[in-house]
Amino acid sequence: MARYKDEQCRICRREGQKLFLKGSRCYTDKCSISRRNYAPGQNGQKKKKLSEYGTQLREKQKTKSYYGVGERQFRRYFEMASTGKGITGERLLQILESRLDNVVYRLGYGSSRAQARMLITHGAFEVNGHKVDIPSYLVKAGDVIKVREIRKDNGTIKLNVEENAGRPVPTWLEKDAESLSGKVVRLASREDIDLPIEEHLIVELYSK
Ligand code: SF4
Repeated sequence: MARYKDEQCRICRREGQKLFLKGSRCYTDKCSISRRNYAPGQNGQKKKKLSEYGTQLREKQKTKSYYGVGERQFRRYFEMASTGKGITGERLLQILESRLDNVVYRLGYGSSRAQARMLITHGAFEVNGHKVDIPSYLVKAGDVIKVREIRKDNGTIKLNVEENAGRPVPTWLEKDAESLSGKVVRLASREDIDLPIEEHLIVELYSK
């Protein structure tokens, strides 16, 4: 069980970066990256030089891990991004940011994207007054996300609101902690996304 619990931290250690997969623990000195910033496994401390393909692949894997998205869905997002308007890599990140689980996390109602996903599937949120229990639901500008009346006393959400009161909310979202809601003012642009992702590497990988 202990091994399973460390699985998310192993992903961070493999990528050599904090991916914030475990909620509040990620912001403390219990974070595995703070204590053991090398890849897991016997040869983890040996520095490996990656090929061009390896670098592109790692960037894609890291991005999938950030957002908790599987390969098939990630590929679908890439196709959406490449057929839409704008720069493919930036558009891909915008689509990922528009996922409801990410929005709930960004608003501070989930301590991590994984926890936000769990809360959504348990029916804790509504969008524009309608219950939405699909974490991959893509929000649009003007959408209002709210904790449903019957979930207002949910202990996890209450704790998140308390613990995340000081966590900044990106400017493309507007949070109203009083009414446990948030509004999508506009879709996220590249400058709004604080993750160290080199999206051009993903585009290069898929363009091979
Ligand atoms: Fe674990 Fe979070 Fe640190 Fe990643 S950022 S190593 S998930 S505690």
